[in-house]
Amino acid sequence: MTAARSATLVRPRVGHGPRLEIDLDAVAANTRLLARRASGALMAVVKADGFGHGAAQVARTARTNGASWLGVTSIDEAAALRRAGLDAPMLSWLNPVDADFAGAIAGGVDLAVPSLAHLDAVQRAGTAARIHLHVDTGMARDGATLEDWPALCRLARRAELAGRARVVGVMGHLGCADVPDDPENAAGRKRFVWALEVARRSGLRPPLRHLAATASTLTDPLSHHTLSRVGAGLVGIDPSRTTVLRPAMTLTAPVVAVRSVRAGTPVGYGGTWSAPRRTHLALLPLGYADGLPRITSGRASVQLSGRRCPVVGRISMDQVVVDAGDRAPELGETATVFGPGRTGEPTVAEWASWADTIEHEIVTGIGARVAR
Ligand SMILES: *Cc1c(COP(=O)(O)O)cnc(C)c1O
Repeated sequence: MTAARSATLVRPRVGHGPRLEIDLDAVAANTRLLARRASGALMAVVKADGFGHGAAQVARTARTNGASWLGVTSIDEAAALRRAGLDAPMLSWLNPVDADFAGAIAGGVDLAVPSLAHLDAVQRAGTAARIHLHVDTGMARDGATLEDWPALCRLARRAELAGRARVVGVMGHLGCADVPDDPENAAGRKRFVWALEVARRSGLRPPLRHLAATASTLTDPLSHHTLSRVGAGLVGIDPSRTTVLRPAMTLTAPVVAVRSVRAGTPVGYGGTWSAPRRTHLALLPLGYADGLPRITSGRASVQLSGRRCPVVGRISMDQVVVDAGDRAPELGETATVFGPGRTGEPTVAEWASWADTIEHEIVTGIGARVAR
């Protein structure tokens, strides 16, 4: 049979397998809260497919609830948002020097410039780009070093006078903002203020000055300047753990098999867990390829018929076994892997602690074959 013919016979039946649901009302409420807290404007950061929540839908929701800007890592992400019809002011901040800067400029996408090499490449792209000079305020990650900063400002001003670029922004990023009283926050803020002063003395007058992400937007008004770039907070993650936000993601999966087993029955690869008593096991069709970290084997649980049931044995690539106890679950019954936690189901925060990681890694790690 040809591939085309079998494709017509086997239609995907969305909703009958693992399923990810996004609560856009939660995104809207989180955006409004963040917009109220920010002293300046709000940029909705929707990199990594909106932290796994769908970049375009998170962007649209944020835009109608108080975010005036959109931010992404790469030009490709920016282009996808433009194709989805989002025409808001947009910034892309991490690109190789040979990226499609001309395409970005044509699409009205602002570009972060973290080095002299990038400044050069952006100028050679043709039409004057709108650029945000990016300074490293203490992470030794992206952004120009403090040593390179004066030269970057000087040459950016020269490009501006020659009509080859317009410096509309200066940006930095704080590495310890999730711990509000870490002294590194004040040190980073000082470096940013110094960088702004160097830019000013070079003749630059950038109207957009942005340093704060979610944690600093919620805890540190001195970091706000004219714009806050918030990503995690939009989808209900507060790295500072100071503010109640609404988690927006719910992951469910149907029970695809049920068996009753005797005490001593080993489960899964390696037989790392054996039933301590007669019990019912339910099989769910999702595993580490779908974003359930294998390291959570033996710690994780899911919710079945309103009860927490432990995940038992090793998590496989495509499947996971749950100990349902005395009651036999129904075939096709829906298990909640995680959700906002309102009815006792596990939360993303719990999965993160079971996996010894942060919520961001859980929500951005849900595999492509999970229906949205
Ligand atoms: C991801 C990112 C943000 C958003 O940070 P959150 O803590 O998710 O709000 C802001 N700025 C930069 C440079 C980023 O990479």
